[in-house]
Amino acid sequence: MDNIHDLVIVGAGPAGLTAAVYARRANIEVVMLEASAPGGKMVKTAEIENWPGTKKTTGPDLAYSMFEHATNLGAMYQFGDVSNIKNDGNIIEVECADGKVYKTKALLIATGTVERLLNIPGEQKFTNRGVSYCAVCDGAFFKDEVITVIGGGNSALEEALYLTKFASQVNVVIRRDVFRADKMIRDKVYAHDKINVIVKSIPVEVVGDDKVDGIVLENVDTKERTTIPTKAVFPFIGLDPKTEFVKNLGITNEFGYIKANEKMETAQKGIYAAGDVLEKELRQVVTAAADGAIAAQEIIMYIEEHE
Ligand code: NAP
Repeated sequence: MDNIHDLVIVGAGPAGLTAAVYARRANIEVVMLEASAPGGKMVKTAEIENWPGTKKTTGPDLAYSMFEHATNLGAMYQFGDVSNIKNDGNIIEVECADGKVYKTKALLIATGTVERLLNIPGEQKFTNRGVSYCAVCDGAFFKDEVITVIGGGNSALEEALYLTKFASQVNVVIRRDVFRADKMIRDKVYAHDKINVIVKSIPVEVVGDDKVDGIVLENVDTKERTTIPTKAVFPFIGLDPKTEFVKNLGITNEFGYIKANEKMETAQKGIYAAGDVLEKELRQVVTAAADGAIAAQEIIMYIEEHE
């Protein structure tokens, strides 16, 4: 007979890892499936200053300690790129791109979000050759060079500040003349002598030969195009939920975010969701962890009733 797991968690970011800790402490068998490195967005975040009790840490450090916590408690961690979910109302089947299928009594979806692309010429060609979506991973390659960040939200400005450690200058390109980011971070950006803010401009092409040499910007009012010399382009223009694999289940809203109630239950029996993948207001490590804890408590009760 096929092995039926208690709980499969898809996504090992702060929501999934917290749920794993809570479920293991209640002696629930847990398999975590992750298609990338454990830690989710934390791995790509330079500094975290709003995880209560820790004034300052790095994203990779916090990710590693959460991962170690969950696996030390006995959560199983496996590579898995989930491509489809089937639910007969009793047993849930989790299908992976490599053909592997996991059967489980309960499923937690904690896949978070993926970076939005600029979708302009040159972006794909120069990805990993000057175009990057991860400042922590790639910033150090551009020591004493000009780096250009696209976007004016919290992510763009936090990463722009981080990139000043390496760059001779960081251009921040925004399409309006105001930032979307919070005031505290806006003020730091305006005060930084290495940051040059370019307003009312949208990127239209990344240019170069073998590697990035520049970015073509179009002024939104005049439509005039200017090529800015730069060795790196870091787009941080927002995020989309990673929910392709559940699109047939009827549990997402029009933007693809998963709809769940305050118990983190979706409309599908036995399927829960937590973290940034949810339709909600505040996407933070701390809110993802809280969702994971709530989901795990509900799943523990669900599994007990199920037996
Ligand atoms: P965001 O807040 O949605 O900001 C996206 C930015 O990209 C905006 O400035 C937007 O411009 C711009 N943009 C969008 N599409 C564009 C395009 N095609 N071309 C050029 N610019 C474009 O996204 P985010 O910064 O990734 O943040 C996502 C969520 O995580 C937010 O809720 C944020 O508060 C949260 N977050 C929080 C923290 C923190 O609290 N420390 C850190 C990181 C992220 P417009 O403003 O003109 O629309």
